[in-house]
Amino acid sequence: MTKQLPAGVVFGEEYQKLISECKAGSYALPAVNVVGTDSINAVMEAAAKNGSDVIVQLSNGGASFYAGKGLDATESMVLGAVSAAQHVHLLAKHYGICVVLHTDHANRKLIPWIDALIDRGEDYKKTFGVPLFSSHMVDLSEEPLDENLSESARLLKRVVGLDMSIEIELGITGGEEDGVGSDVDTIDNSKLYTQPEDVLQAYDQLNSIGHFSIAASFGNVHGVYKPGNVVLRPKILDASQKLVSATHGLASDKPLDLVFHGGSGSSAESIKEAISYGVFKMNIDTDTQFAFSRGVGKFVAENPMAFLHQIHPETDQPLKKFYDPRKWLRSGEETMIERLDQAFSELGSVGKSVAK
Ligand SMILES: [Zn+2]
Repeated sequence: MTKQLPAGVVFGEEYQKLISECKAGSYALPAVNVVGTDSINAVMEAAAKNGSDVIVQLSNGGASFYAGKGLDATESMVLGAVSAAQHVHLLAKHYGICVVLHTDHANRKLIPWIDALIDRGEDYKKTFGVPLFSSHMVDLSEEPLDENLSESARLLKRVVGLDMSIEIELGITGGEEDGVGSDVDTIDNSKLYTQPEDVLQAYDQLNSIGHFSIAASFGNVHGVYKPGNVVLRPKILDASQKLVSATHGLASDKPLDLVFHGGSGSSAESIKEAISYGVFKMNIDTDTQFAFSRGVGKFVAENPMAFLHQIHPETDQPLKKFYDPRKWLRSGEETMIERLDQAFSELGSVGKSVAK
């Protein structure tokens, strides 16, 4: 590992350098979905504590919540993402780590959200010389492959000038996530497994335009469900890498930058195998949501009177130091950090931050 990048938000060449370090060192970074300053700060605190770089990620719902439920959702999913990105730009360097700023799934109906964020990114770059986000995800995996790739190419052309990347999805990740994704039981099972030929077509169409990463499906599912009939086949990732490398006679045996969606509840073993095939980013949402709520729930269960009375009705004890939101929100942050300790360790990124 080389300490080569300044701490703070990375994008463009620096982002690609960080990805190369991950792949060369056989580790990945968690991309943690956040919904407010509490979860963003917990993610950066956990990364600093573990000496790891990290990816802060916003879904359209998370961004909308960040701006506030009192605003119109179409407006707030743009404003909240901008606000969250600005928060991270200001604070990330103070945590002494590199942070990638990413947005999560945008299907066809959410493409206007991405275009609006690219507009905002252009304004931000004019003023501050850097883009707002490192990368946006475009998920047109439910559309025919040609449409998926041509629209992804259009957006990639828009962001290259901003030193930004995009993440695309090939094949469908099962499960529900912020209204994106499909029910595991109702989609064609073969769509849960990306075809290496599709990956090659994506590489051929996008590689000359700019930098992109690929979320390829290998039986992964959003959320945590009872073990069912969907089996993880990480070898699909390996086959895709090999096909692209062989077709183009590339020196690298892992030319693709791969992303693992639906990693919550996966065994440490399948995570390790996926990383060995060039996965540098693993999304985590369900497990950190539960972790945050578990900490808050534990605090409430231990101090129930503070959530019913300002003064204890029997002992006359003032309960301010228990109902102060900083107390129970901090409990949530602490258990989220604990869960992230596990993620950094499973992904092998502990102590590997490239921040100088
Ligand atoms: Zn996903």
